[in-house]
Amino acid sequence: MNVNQSAPPVPPFGQPQPVYPGYHQSSYGGQPGSTAAPTPYGAYNGPVPGYQQTPPPGVSRAPASSGAPPASTAQGPCGQTAYGQFGQGDVQNGPSSGVQMQRLPGSQPFASAPLAPVVSQPAVLQPYGPPPTSAQVTAQLAGMQISGAVAPAPPASGLGYGSPTSLASASGSFPNSGLYGSYPQGQAPPLGQGHPGAQPPQRSVPPQASSFTPPASGGPRMPSMTGPLLPGQSFGGPPVSQPNHVSSPPPQALPPGTQMTGPPGPPPPMHSSQQPGYQLQQNGSFGPARGPQSNYGSPYPGAATFGSQPGPPQPLPPKRLDPDAIPSPQLNELPPQQKTRHRIDPDAIPSPIQVIEDDRNNRGSEPFVTGVRGQVPPLVTTNFLVKDQGNASPRYIRCTSYNIPCTSDMAKQAQVPLAAVIKPLARLPPEEASPYVVDHGESGPLRCNRCKAYMCPFMQFVEGGRRFQCCFCSCINDVPPQYFQHLDHTGKRVDAYDRPELSLGSYEFLATVDYCKNNKFPIPPAFIFMIDVSYNAVRSGLVRLLCEELKSLLDFLPREGGAEESAIRVGFVTYNKVLHFYNVKSSLAQPQMMVVSDVGDMFVPLLDGFLVNVSESRAVITSLLDQIPEMFADTRETETVFAPVVQAGMEALKAAECAGKLFLFHTSLPIAEAPGKLKNRDDRKLINTDKEKTLFQPQSGAYQTLAKECVAQGCCVDLFLFPNQYVDVATLSVVPQLTGGSVYKYACFQVENDQERFLSDLRRDVQKVVGFDAVMRVRTSTGIRAVDFFGAFYMSNTTDVELAGLDGDKTVTVEFKHDDRLNEENGALLQCALLYTSCAGQRRLRIHNLALNCCTQLADLYRNCETDTLINYMAKFAYRGVLSSPVKTVRDTLITQCAQILACYRKNCASPSSAGQLILPECMKLLPVYLNCVLKSEVLQPGAEVTTDDRAYVRQLVTSMDVAETNVFFYPRLLPLTKSPIENTTEPPAVRASEERLSNGDIYLLENGLNLFLWVGASVQQGVVQSLFGVSSFSQITSGLSVLPVLDNLLSKKVRGLIDSLRAQRSRYMKLIVVKQEDKLEMLFKHFLVEDKSLSGGASYVDFLCHMHKEIRQLLS
Ligand SMILES: [Zn+2]
Repeated sequence: MNVNQSAPPVPPFGQPQPVYPGYHQSSYGGQPGSTAAPTPYGAYNGPVPGYQQTPPPGVSRAPASSGAPPASTAQGPCGQTAYGQFGQGDVQNGPSSGVQMQRLPGSQPFASAPLAPVVSQPAVLQPYGPPPTSAQVTAQLAGMQISGAVAPAPPASGLGYGSPTSLASASGSFPNSGLYGSYPQGQAPPLGQGHPGAQPPQRSVPPQASSFTPPASGGPRMPSMTGPLLPGQSFGGPPVSQPNHVSSPPPQALPPGTQMTGPPGPPPPMHSSQQPGYQLQQNGSFGPARGPQSNYGSPYPGAATFGSQPGPPQPLPPKRLDPDAIPSPQLNELPPQQKTRHRIDPDAIPSPIQVIEDDRNNRGSEPFVTGVRGQVPPLVTTNFLVKDQGNASPRYIRCTSYNIPCTSDMAKQAQVPLAAVIKPLARLPPEEASPYVVDHGESGPLRCNRCKAYMCPFMQFVEGGRRFQCCFCSCINDVPPQYFQHLDHTGKRVDAYDRPELSLGSYEFLATVDYCKNNKFPIPPAFIFMIDVSYNAVRSGLVRLLCEELKSLLDFLPREGGAEESAIRVGFVTYNKVLHFYNVKSSLAQPQMMVVSDVGDMFVPLLDGFLVNVSESRAVITSLLDQIPEMFADTRETETVFAPVVQAGMEALKAAECAGKLFLFHTSLPIAEAPGKLKNRDDRKLINTDKEKTLFQPQSGAYQTLAKECVAQGCCVDLFLFPNQYVDVATLSVVPQLTGGSVYKYACFQVENDQERFLSDLRRDVQKVVGFDAVMRVRTSTGIRAVDFFGAFYMSNTTDVELAGLDGDKTVTVEFKHDDRLNEENGALLQCALLYTSCAGQRRLRIHNLALNCCTQLADLYRNCETDTLINYMAKFAYRGVLSSPVKTVRDTLITQCAQILACYRKNCASPSSAGQLILPECMKLLPVYLNCVLKSEVLQPGAEVTTDDRAYVRQLVTSMDVAETNVFFYPRLLPLTKSPIENTTEPPAVRASEERLSNGDIYLLENGLNLFLWVGASVQQGVVQSLFGVSSFSQITSGLSVLPVLDNLLSKKVRGLIDSLRAQRSRYMKLIVVKQEDKLEMLFKHFLVEDKSLSGGASYVDFLCHMHKEIRQLLS
């Protein structure tokens, strides 16, 4: 595509032609998904009505780019000079008027602008959820101190978040690592499970439910959790007579002293003398009042129950709850024993399911209109439409808080990380328009002279429109004559609504040659397929499967707009310990192979004929793909190289002077003599030692060096791994990680079991739109600045995020810190600019703008936080931390930070109340449960079945995840399939991820974005078994089944449809595993019941909440 066509004559906006010249309206229509008749762009601008009806039709669907620095400057691939320079004396702009203009009222981003009439709220916005009942929004827990035993201090490892135990028994043998690969049948941990009882799961009821919780039963019954506990064991131990699913005894008996449950008899008597301590608080909540409280004097009594032996049973005060803040169970439905058994009623602590449901109900029906500054968007789990009215959609940017403390002191006090999770090329639902492409002609996008920020809706035009004041650095800039426009009486340009860059949060600029490498417009990128043809790859059927698939897949390479065929060229390499290049030039009758055996000095033996257009060379390519499996069918070569393969692909792109992507299909540890040769250094004994971090670090620096070269060339690497044993994912994933690529892992790959998953991932990966050779820069208004970055990319300086490739699934997480005071009036602005080459070779800048509020009251911060984004950030922070710190240190840091966040709220924002209450900010009431899930995750607390490669793989994956992905990854979705009537085709409401919620008469689906289980209760009705599995009884169901039979009945169709729909929502194919209750595979499944204790030592939700409460109290005392 020729980028040079500056200012083309009014191309229709619905067309692939992405240029955005003059906003002539007539041709905008035809946007799919609009409700009303196609609305010309002009309408969207106007005072909202038209806009509300129809999202602005997008011009191009092409990937966006962002404002990276002109690559032309001699500095490096992406010339940071132009980017970073504060070119005051830039000739293009006249001298700035010496007088720095005050910010005009109008410059306060959208808060007061007439543009945003729809959802506008005053600066201090109520977050989702019901309004606080009084001065504070709290979730209160009374009775956290109920435990009777008093211990001096919790033993270090007693909490369950301490060191995982039972790791020593881990075999470390690869096939056991089923979690992310296929789980080889018959190799599950040999733990039998007990038989579930018949108790139906308890459901929460709406918050309004009156919630007087009966006294909790007494007696400390939490012995040390370090022993191998049953996964489903709840804190107080489900009463033997009640549980839905009682587990059979663990393999190793608990030590005599550590009885898990309270005595099966009646609950300990309540001492009414304790009652006076609890009074109705002035804010309407219940809780222990200050006053005579014998329990409070000692260090958090609950601590006793954690590591030490339980003391003698003691009377407990009653537990009471704030009825407004915590969804409570319908107590009347509970059997009496149930009410008293649990130290804390799991239904009385904040429920992720309830929060998600409430948000869906409250915010799912109205579009989210982005015109208001500092608005907290609906949760990622809520379906909603977005209307861009000047701030970037939450699909592109989500923040940990939408209201930033004005000073760094406040920020330090609160300890709430200030971060944005940015997905610059996010795919949008069809109802929402892709960003418009704007062409500012030969002079390129209009930018601030000083800080180089791009023209955006927050820039303030002054002096009758002849100048504009930069909203980021306050510099006054001249408006170039061709861009001049008059202002209306409010100081707004009269064409503001005709220009995306003056009215929208997200848009693209066409880049000029100044933004291109070597001052040359790029040529279209290339894809190179590099296939391991060693013995394992051939024997598993991979080579044949892949070659067969590529024959058709090559017809679906990414295309720009309505282009008839992809501009992307392709090339092919096979390798074991030598490399084979193929000439597939269209004029050849047969492909030609060239072997390079000197892998120590890799070069590309052919240029002409290596990268070809698919349609031109189709016959030769097909012939090649037919021949490859035959050529290597009898290979005995088991050794492979790796780094030389990447090197070869990168050199080929360099020779062709283009960016591109390598698709590597690799099976084994590269032990052949060559650069990047690796040794097997897997050592599980390092877990829980100071050297554990080495398991996450690459074993050779050569891979980083290689990755750096790839980035310079715009060579992105996607790695598909098919290991039968340890392959050192930590090292092999360095190149994909630093080049913006993806890693896929198929352990013990077998065509018959894994082909659907592999092919599905491959198809999606090859077809997805990618931006190449990209640079991202995040600018901020004065007062804060981007200081840290997380994701799959490379940085050669402190500000520019370099991405050899960036696709629509990947995020870059940015942390901000104060460097000056902010003020409430101006708020804080972010501008993310991504410069990239589209898949057709067009150089573009994609710009996202976001305005946030600033506050002088901590309460405003806590009212405008987003816990899902906080968790995303904290997980990434922790997962990077394990590279340099002992895992235990990382875990402790997370716990401490969480406690500080909550303690600061308690101290500064909650109304005075007893220390015995746990008070959580409404927006953060799920922080403890989610954080516990992060602490229990494979990376931070691996179970015995998790391999070193699994951990490195997950660590790498999470680094680029968006908020929705981390949300479901850490707290899986558990859907009951047989609760609702079969006719009901809507997705069933989820239940909490705990064994207590499973009823043995039902069937459940569980998914976390990577794994998908179908759990079948042992007492499921025969008819259901027949309908779903086509067999007559539970015992005939094949455990580990990965495909449901296609049966012609409602239930079968509904379940298969639901599975399809879950898969469609995720970026990777989730292979189904059918798990029967009591089957050994169930251990694998239980790992995902994250509210329960985990076998690896992870705390239950209730336990963790108690621990968090203790930590908070210590901070406050
Ligand atoms: Zn500026």
